[in-house]
Amino acid sequence: MSADTQTIAGWGRYPRRATRLIAVREEAAVAPLHRAETGLIARGNGRAYGDAALGDTTTLALGGLDRMIAFDPETGHLAVEAGVLLADIIDAFLPRGFFPAVVPGTRYVTVGGMIAADIHGKNHHGAGGFGAHVENLTLALPDGTVRTCGPGADLFAATVGGMGLTGTILRATLRLRRIETGWIRQRTVAAADLDAAMAALEAANGSTYAVAWIDCLARGAARGRALVYGGEHATRADLAELAPGAPLNPPAGGGALAVPFDLPALTLNRLSVGAFNALYYGRGRAGAGRDSLVGWAPYFFPLDGIRDWNRIYGARGFLQHQCVIPKARSRAALAEILDRVAHAAPSFLAVLKLLGPGGGVMSFPLAGYTLTLDFPASPANLALLDDLDAIVRAAGGRLYLAKDARQSRDTFEAGYGDAATRFRALRRDLGAEGRIASGLSRRLGL
Ligand SMILES: Cc1cc2nc3c(=O)[nH]c(=O)nc-3n(C[C@H](O)[C@H](O)[C@H](O)COP(=O)(O)OP(=O)(O)OC[C@H]3O[C@@H](n4cnc5c(N)ncnc54)[C@H](O)[C@@H]3O)c2cc1C
Repeated sequence: MSADTQTIAGWGRYPRRATRLIAVREEAAVAPLHRAETGLIARGNGRAYGDAALGDTTTLALGGLDRMIAFDPETGHLAVEAGVLLADIIDAFLPRGFFPAVVPGTRYVTVGGMIAADIHGKNHHGAGGFGAHVENLTLALPDGTVRTCGPGADLFAATVGGMGLTGTILRATLRLRRIETGWIRQRTVAAADLDAAMAALEAANGSTYAVAWIDCLARGAARGRALVYGGEHATRADLAELAPGAPLNPPAGGGALAVPFDLPALTLNRLSVGAFNALYYGRGRAGAGRDSLVGWAPYFFPLDGIRDWNRIYGARGFLQHQCVIPKARSRAALAEILDRVAHAAPSFLAVLKLLGPGGGVMSFPLAGYTLTLDFPASPANLALLDDLDAIVRAAGGRLYLAKDARQSRDTFEAGYGDAATRFRALRRDLGAEGRIASGLSRRLGL
């Protein structure tokens, strides 16, 4: 175990915070730290964008808890320590015909981080969040006791989506799903505007995976034009039909390209993003309507192909805005957000998904549409995001805490009100108030 004061940040590199960083390598080291320290939070691989994994005074870096403990090939149950990376699970179990039941858009996240954020994948509409596929988890509590719990327990419900604020997850047992190949059978729909994009996502509800890339610079009649991707795990028969002779599992790829230094923030401007979007939409439309096979890595983790891509936003860092709006009010709110963004600032990334109902007490999802946008950190963009928050609040929506670096308490309370009240009470019962604290919990009064 080593400790040292460092200035750290999340994936968005905004904000930065000085904290004592303690690298943990043994599960047994965690409980004594909980007894001894206040203002501490767990950190996995630092892929949350904002201040969720920045300790108020102390941060426990758990990447050293990286052992896989047991696997049952009959049930697909896998017991692992909390610092195990999703990438390592895929590398170890894809060749044996298993895949994690839910994955986010990067594989460089830990099991503890995925449970704490109750991450959602492109299959949330059918599979729920990551927490729905956890058999049990073992947690070091604020008073230093260690408890194992499963679905049905209040502690479990508060920990799934609880952003590390109930204690430190030491290990968990996950249920993996069986797959026949490492390929995804993908069908693309080119949607000419927002209505068509939403209709295509609704229609793709029967698909295992569904997600839309939005051209957020398109205006007027083309506002919200999108490529909607439906996907299924390809069977051996699919492979024989679409790519005879291809290997059962495609190469993992990724990581070959890297951004070597912080690019000037100007690199991503209206012209460059607009040109990219036009080209991307045009190519997607040309291939629409036909099934194609895509390897698991580019399908689930396209951004992992460019190492350190967070540096393209320049040294000031960037902000991701991810909201979810209840279904009945989604159309009007999404149109308003896209109009606002098209006129104010280009977002390089714009992703739309249809989510199902949530899992844990503080889990982000609710039945509705979630839109994700990226902006360089700047005073003008901070003001723009406040305007977007107002639209989200008026429509009864909320923001994703794993992406958040700047929402106000008012926005948070409007989005999470009753859940936050219940969560605070659970934290009080656990003695977590003050003892377990992150930048995020301080900012939002949790
Ligand atoms: C490129 C990219 C794409 C993404 N795509 C998606 C997506 O599609 N869907 C989605 O839902 N999310 C997505 N995310 C967000 C990411 O999945 C979450 O932020 C996840 O929590 C990061 O895991 P981590 O191990 O890096 O955790 P960290 O960022 O280190 O921590 C995140 C939170 O988990 C807590 N935590 C970490 N480990 C533990 C532990 N052992 N015990 C208790 N609490 C712990 C921390 O306290 C913190 O609150 C994406 C992020 C990136 C960078």
